[in-house]
Amino acid sequence: MPLLPRRFERLKAVLDRRMGDLTVLLEQVDKPHNLSAILRSCDAVGVLEAHVVSMAGRTPTFNCTSKGSEKWVPLHRHPSTAEALRQLKAQGLRLYGTHLSVDAIDYRDCDFTGPTAFLLGAEKWGLSEEAIELVDQPIVIPMLGMVQSLNVSVATATLLFEALRQRQAAGSLPSQGEGVDPQRYGRMLFEWAYPEVAAWCNRQGRPYPALDGEGAISETLPRNVRLRH
Ligand code: SAM
Repeated sequence: MPLLPRRFERLKAVLDRRMGDLTVLLEQVDKPHNLSAILRSCDAVGVLEAHVVSMAGRTPTFNCTSKGSEKWVPLHRHPSTAEALRQLKAQGLRLYGTHLSVDAIDYRDCDFTGPTAFLLGAEKWGLSEEAIELVDQPIVIPMLGMVQSLNVSVATATLLFEALRQRQAAGSLPSQGEGVDPQRYGRMLFEWAYPEVAAWCNRQGRPYPALDGEGAISETLPRNVRLRH
């Protein structure tokens, strides 16, 4: 069945607002409910993609808390913190490490309108020493209660929505796809619209077919390739 034009418009409208210069790196945040809640917040704010360094031997998994947001926010897995930070720095992102220490500054005193990556740590241990050493700026969300820390997904949402608020106030939110590299935009739109065809193309090692203005595939595919579920 071809994609409904309305659905295609909705996919485009969401992708048009995605921000490639706002992301999170999760260090050993492996609990499915935390990962799921974090990706859901990323989707809500317009984060293009997220990053994770998992504990050895663990594969990120999600539960119903995500509401399917893992389909809309790719989670890139990195083998180590050092490698992940090297990649994020190479992308020009400023690294803000959430670290409950005396050096950390109040997150509301930071400018998140530039390229920004938030680093968040595991429920038990927080960020590793290695990550703390490599970040550009340690930050904290001040708290007034008896318990010493927030749940990691709550901390992530707080920071992401502050970045969104600042960007909105600065008038710098993307609205027409300018937050995503054009080639990437085209690939993601196709994958969102036709995940099964995209998977087939990837297995075949062939480029994705072009889409017309209404989101229909403008070439004839083999009959056994399903357009949609
Ligand atoms: N015992 C850990 C520690 O000392 O860092 C607490 C970890 S906390 C439960 C899990 C993660 O949530 C932290 O690594 C940090 O990323 C984030 N987090 C929790 N409370 C925070 C706060 N008040 N400010 C900034 N980040 C916070």
